[in-house]
Amino acid sequence: MSNLDRQAALTVCGGRGFVVAEPVRELLSPRRVQLGESTEVRRLLPNLGRRMVGAWAFVDHYGPDDIADEAGMQVPPHPHMGLQTVSWLHDGEVLHRDSLGSLQTVRPRELALMTSGRAISHSEESPRRHARFLHGAQLWVALPDAHRHVQPHFQHHAELPVVTAPGLTATVILGALDGAVSPGTAYSPIIGADLALARGTETRLPLEPDFEYAVLSMSGEAEVDGVPVLPGSMLYLGCGRSELPLRAESDAGLMLLGGEPFEEELVMWWNFIGRSQQEIEEAREAWMSGSRFGEVQGYDGAPLPAPELPPVPLKPRGRTR
Ligand code: MN
Repeated sequence: MSNLDRQAALTVCGGRGFVVAEPVRELLSPRRVQLGESTEVRRLLPNLGRRMVGAWAFVDHYGPDDIADEAGMQVPPHPHMGLQTVSWLHDGEVLHRDSLGSLQTVRPRELALMTSGRAISHSEESPRRHARFLHGAQLWVALPDAHRHVQPHFQHHAELPVVTAPGLTATVILGALDGAVSPGTAYSPIIGADLALARGTETRLPLEPDFEYAVLSMSGEAEVDGVPVLPGSMLYLGCGRSELPLRAESDAGLMLLGGEPFEEELVMWWNFIGRSQQEIEEAREAWMSGSRFGEVQGYDGAPLPAPELPPVPLKPRGRTR
């Protein structure tokens, strides 16, 4: 999915100054963002008080939406730079096309991982014949400087490793959890896991004390470290934990997001992550002039134009919020 915000703001993020070194319980409320005509998403990252969790730099939660009589998701071709996109569905399907020629239908609990490296473009749409409900999350992972110019590539993994405990099925999306390792390519120490909890479950999840964590709720009634987290909300947990208590009042679907705190400072704008405003301006120019980002074949519609850059040049704001 794309950041379709027409008033895209420049965001400075990354750096140790944003990271909370000890365990905390900081509930993040979503910002409602309209994507196209029919889809509204809940944006959890970047958030007013929190821009990243490990290398996770962007989190949208959408649905469940009844799209039985609608076109559903229609995100025209748009570019990415300096990041990986992770598409994660609980219901429905998304058809992915990209400038490498990939054409892939993505289904619930399958990993679609697109590494933009220096430049890629893609589109995402509900197939013409689709399931009634669409429910998922769209996430971005910032690439560290050493890897942000890698060749763009797209990976689809229908089979992912699973960790189980009574009442818990944890699917490892990216990184490793309790010894189970995702086949998706990661460029920094990271974890993304889907947590399916059965009603009445009380369990503890093993964590890495050096990692920073957050939990997104997608469905059901669950408590994370004693805090009720409603669907569409995210609880930031800080660092310094070796385990996480979870409790489910009903069947619940959560996402665990975490990783080593991201040391590098980033400039994020629209669908790009760079290190300076100049890089962002050059990427915007390249997209608008039809160079660098390739072409998406087969999407029925025009590519997405980039919004205007804010008129005031970005002043690096260092490590403060
Ligand atoms: Mn996208």
